[in-house]
Amino acid sequence: MLQPWLDCSHVNDTTSSDDSKSPRLRLRVTAAAESILRSGHPWLFADSVREQNRVGETGELAVIFDRKDEFLAVGLFDAESPLRVRILHAGKPETIDPEWWKARFEKALARRQGLFDEQTTGYRCINGESDGWPGLVLDRYDSTLVLKLYSAAWLARMDEIRELIKSHFSPTATPPNRVVLRLSRNIQRTAAERFKVGDGQILSGPDLSGPLIFRESGLNFEADVLQGQKTGFFLDQRENRKRVESLAKGRTVLNAFSFSGGFSLYAARGGATSVTDVDISMHALAAAKRNFELNQENATIARCKHEPLKADAFEWLNGNASRMFDFVILDPPSLAKREIERNGAILAYGRLVAQGLKHLKPGGILLAASCSAHVTAAEFFGAVRQAATASKRKFKELQTTGHAPDHPATFKEAEYLKAIYLLQT
Ligand code: SAH
Repeated sequence: MLQPWLDCSHVNDTTSSDDSKSPRLRLRVTAAAESILRSGHPWLFADSVREQNRVGETGELAVIFDRKDEFLAVGLFDAESPLRVRILHAGKPETIDPEWWKARFEKALARRQGLFDEQTTGYRCINGESDGWPGLVLDRYDSTLVLKLYSAAWLARMDEIRELIKSHFSPTATPPNRVVLRLSRNIQRTAAERFKVGDGQILSGPDLSGPLIFRESGLNFEADVLQGQKTGFFLDQRENRKRVESLAKGRTVLNAFSFSGGFSLYAARGGATSVTDVDISMHALAAAKRNFELNQENATIARCKHEPLKADAFEWLNGNASRMFDFVILDPPSLAKREIERNGAILAYGRLVAQGLKHLKPGGILLAASCSAHVTAAEFFGAVRQAATASKRKFKELQTTGHAPDHPATFKEAEYLKAIYLLQT
C-alpha cells in the first residue's frame, strides 16, 4: 500500500495551474513546527522544513507530513518568502477543489452577515489567516471591492478568486461592480515581472482615478483605494470610533496621528466643540478636511470647529504645552515593525502617553491605541498604566478593547490592535 507521503491523492488541487505531471509537493518539518501546526497555527517558516521531495513553485499546494508519515496540513507554498507555507487546512485530509474554495469563501462572508446595514458600506469581508485565507484581505467600500495580497502565492490564483467574488456577489441586491488589486510592497516586483499586474490595478469594472466615497455608521468618508495605506482607510478602528462618539459631547478633542479624520468625524457628530487633527501628512489632513465637508449636512458636525495641523505629533506634543484638551486620542502608526524593536516600542508608547496626558484637562479622557503586532495587549496596557501612574494624577480605566468583529484574530501574531480609555477623575 502506498504511504500517504508518497501518494497524496486526497489533495486534488484542480484549481491551480500546477503542472499535473509533477508529483505533489511534499514536506517534512521539524518536531517543533509539527506541534505548532497541529495546534492550528497558520505559518510554516523555511527554517522548519526538514525535507522536501522537489523544488516547489510559489503558489502551488504543499502537503506537510508528520513523523509517522501521516497528513498534517496543506498550504500555499511560497518559494521566495521565509514564511514558506501558509496553511490552509490542518487535521484530517481534505480535497482542495473548487467546491472547497467556494465553501471557504462563503464561510468568511457569512461571518459578516448581519453585522452591517446600509449605513456602513465599508468593512472587511476577508481578514487573512483568521478567516482561512492566509495573506489575503478583501475589503468592501460601497460598490468597490479591494483585494489586497500579502503573499505572492495568491498571484497565480487570481482568476479563481475573481470567479469566487463574481459568483458570490452577483446574486446579491447591490453587487459591487469594481475589483481593485492592492499588493504589499514585498510582492510588487514578482507581480509585475511574472504576472504583469501592479498595485492599484483595476481587475474588473469601471475606471477610477481618485478616492471613492463610502459610508461608515452613517458618516461619509473618502477612501483612496488605489494608493492609500492598507486598502485606503483604517476600517479596523470603527468600533473605537463609535466609542469616541459616545464620549465626545461638549469636549475639545485632540486627534494625534489623525490620518483622514476617522475619529474626528465621530467625535464631531458626538457633540465635540472642536477637533484638532495632528498628522505629518498634508495628504491625510486634506482628506480629513474633505471628510468634514462631506458631512456638513449634519448640524452637529457643521458646528464643530475643525483645526488641521501638519506636524510631527511627537514634537508637537512636546512643544505646545499650553494647548489643553478634554479628549486626547493617540493612534500612532506601528512603533514596532520588527520583533527586535519591541522593547523600544513599549518605552515609546509610554513616553507618548506621558506627553499626551500633559495636554489633558482635569476630567478629560485619553484614548491610546496600538497597532503593533509585536507588542502584546498586556505590554501596551502596562506601558499606558505606568505612564498614567507616573503623571501623579488619578485615572479611572473606562475600558480596554481589541479587534472588531469583521477583523477577527485567531492566533497571537494576528492580534495587533488594542486600545485603552482612561478618564481623569
Ligand atoms: N487614527 C487613524 C489612523 C492612523 S494611521 C484612523 O482612525 O484613520 C497613522 C497616521 O499617522 C498616518 O496618517 C500617518 O501619516 C501619521 N503619522 C506617521 N508618523 C507621524 C508623526 N511622526 N507625526 C504625526 N503623524 C504621523
